[in-house]
Amino acid sequence: MNTNQDFNCYWWQERPPRPAPPAEWQQHADIAIIGCGFTGLSAGLTLARAGRNVVILEKGLIGEGASTRNGGITSGNIRLSATQLKKRFGAERAQQFFDEAVAARADLARFIQDENIDCDFQPVGRVVGLTGQFSADRIKRDNDAFQARYGIGPVFIEKHEMADYTESSIYEGGILRPDIGGIHPAKLMHEMLRLALEAGVKVFSETPVLQIERRQSDFVILTDRGEIAAEHVISATNAYTDRAQPWLRRRLVPVISEMIATEKIGRNRVQSLMPKLTMFGESKQLGYYYRPSPDGERILLGGRRGHKDTARAKRQLHDALATIFPALGDTRIDAHWQGFVAFPFDQLPKLVVRDGVIYPAGFCGSGTVWARWLGQKAALMILGEEGDSVFGNLPMHTLPFYTGDPWFMPLAMTYYRLRDRLAASPK
Ligand SMILES: Cc1cc2nc3c(=O)[nH]c(=O)nc-3n(C[C@H](O)[C@H](O)[C@H](O)COP(=O)(O)OP(=O)(O)OC[C@H]3O[C@@H](n4cnc5c(N)ncnc54)[C@H](O)[C@@H]3O)c2cc1C
Repeated sequence: MNTNQDFNCYWWQERPPRPAPPAEWQQHADIAIIGCGFTGLSAGLTLARAGRNVVILEKGLIGEGASTRNGGITSGNIRLSATQLKKRFGAERAQQFFDEAVAARADLARFIQDENIDCDFQPVGRVVGLTGQFSADRIKRDNDAFQARYGIGPVFIEKHEMADYTESSIYEGGILRPDIGGIHPAKLMHEMLRLALEAGVKVFSETPVLQIERRQSDFVILTDRGEIAAEHVISATNAYTDRAQPWLRRRLVPVISEMIATEKIGRNRVQSLMPKLTMFGESKQLGYYYRPSPDGERILLGGRRGHKDTARAKRQLHDALATIFPALGDTRIDAHWQGFVAFPFDQLPKLVVRDGVIYPAGFCGSGTVWARWLGQKAALMILGEEGDSVFGNLPMHTLPFYTGDPWFMPLAMTYYRLRDRLAASPK
């Protein structure tokens, strides 16, 4: 559990991490899953409902990873642009990334509805506030193409219309995506845990996996509770991958993502700042994301950082909030917390198999949609059904001498900050 004084996760006030219900240790399972967040639970639920014997092994308490700490914005973002994807994969395959993102978002909404999940799901849309240079004509053309293919109409918001969405005057315009919304992430994760347990998944918390060993066609997993043999292994540790999985650790860059929640400022005030109560992001590389709390009483804002000074980071987030909404400059911050998100070097999520272990990982800060979706895909691969994904078997690169400790983060952040500044300066 995080005992750092600067750590006070808003979501944990209602759904704190907790131990898994007691269960008898077993020495064999059809499938062992390492890590109990959205990825592990999604895979476990799918497999158990198909009649498989599934064990999830979690190092900490249940709900200590990123899945309960995040902004709860169901963005399903792909960080590479359509142009970048086309250049790398060709037009047809590039389109498949967006097809899968639309399908994954819709699948999450359907899951929440069909399973009657109480997670404060608010399908209110998300606005990306535009800063710097952009072509309104091009955005409108892209929106029309999106509408034609998916029947979902993103809306270009002119600068003078932004007041319908935000009191902030810092944006030059915006793009509203109606198929994105907000959830209470800790409620969703604990509901997924409930469904997994009901389906028969055995979950062991405070059980770190120390080693995964391949023995002929099976795996033996060493934990500090004992060994367990399994026919299949799914690694669902993402940004929290430790030295037990050196291959994966070398291929993911863990980045600190953190958030603040204001004191209760009241629904009227929140509504005057964000009239349609939408989720918000920014078009910059190092943009902030923010949203009303599900009860509409506060504003939650998050961003990424590349240094280790937590007090400075909190001030920076408060400053960012005050830049967006100057009226909140003196507002008290009631909660401040951090977690890690995982970036593969090519900034595309992954569903790869190596030495028989299945790795859904590298969600680039958009795992509310991708972790659940790719966890499910990993399960379907084992079941031999529709496990195909455009993220399947993409090469997963590393850098020479990189072992999982991203010493280059401050440099990378400076680079992205510079790009944002250049993009914002008049040409
Ligand atoms: C502050 C913050 C804000 C974010 N905001 C958003 C957002 O608004 N929208 C969005 O889509 N995404 C967001 N994300 C990202 C999202 O939360 C993650 O992508 C997603 O939760 C990943 O889920 P997961 O199940 O793969 O990993 P996690 O939930 O992190 O679970 C991994 C688990 O593996 C366990 N583990 C690690 N090593 C071992 C081991 N050796 N043995 C056993 N267990 C192990 C860890 O203890 C951990 O519980 C945010 C993340 C953070 C931190």
